[in-house]
Amino acid sequence: MALAKCLECGKEVSRSAKACPHCGKPDPTVSELAKQKKKEKDMDAIWGIVPIIIFGSIILKSCDII
Ligand SMILES: [Zn+2]
Repeated sequence: MALAKCLECGKEVSRSAKACPHCGKPDPTVSELAKQKKKEKDMDAIWGIVPIIIFGSIILKSCDII
């Protein structure tokens, strides 16, 4: 079982722990940075889809005109 330090209280907690047994912090070994990175990744996925939607709607509109 891998141990990591709790970000809140600094005590050792299992990486798989849902919450710190010492201070009760949820996801005690997941840093805010990692969470932020995951969020950014999600945003990247959204921004990858947006141009496709815009492009698709432009094509649909031009089809309507014709
Ligand atoms: Zn803690």
